[in-house]
Amino acid sequence: MPEAFHQHIGDDQLVHGLPKHMSARKRLSANDAPTGERPRTLWRYVPKPGACEKCRAMQGLWFKEKPGPVHPNCKCEIRQETFGPVTIVGTLQGFEDTATEKFNAGQKITVEIKNLGPFFAGARICVDQMEWRATRLLPPGEETAFDFFKFGDLPVPWEVFLICHCGDNATLQYIIRG
Ligand SMILES: [Zn+2]
Ligand SMILES: [Zn+2]
Repeated sequence: MPEAFHQHIGDDQLVHGLPKHMSARKRLSANDAPTGERPRTLWRYVPKPGACEKCRAMQGLWFKEKPGPVHPNCKCEIRQETFGPVTIVGTLQGFEDTATEKFNAGQKITVEIKNLGPFFAGARICVDQMEWRATRLLPPGEETAFDFFKFGDLPVPWEVFLICHCGDNATLQYIIRG
């Protein structure tokens, strides 16, 4: 399973308690809405064990541009990561066929279900073993989509379980985008 990421672009926010040269940088937080589809390079601090409070406070924050040291003699690693959109495609073949997909993405994913035919068919989707959705019975060729949201630090781990709940010899295609 390839691991991919989705970028989140934040508003300008002041990061309190930081040197002035950093406070103007764009900060990315878990509350920002996902935007864009292109892969993007983001930066983050990786504080060393025993790093000071200021450095440890940088953990989990993402920056659009390479940030400077948190303070003089800061030993934090400044690591570059590439985020890209997640697309997972699979099929369910016949009644009660199941699939489970685990991946990292942003805070929103879309699950599309398309009936490839030749009979009516539908699917149920369960996200993180909690949130169930069901399609109606889809005629061949028809598709439907569901959005799922979840808050958390990026990248967000997701587990999507799919089951064909109707349609004996039908084939359903699922596409998960995050
Ligand atoms: Zn420090
Ligand atoms: Zn540091």
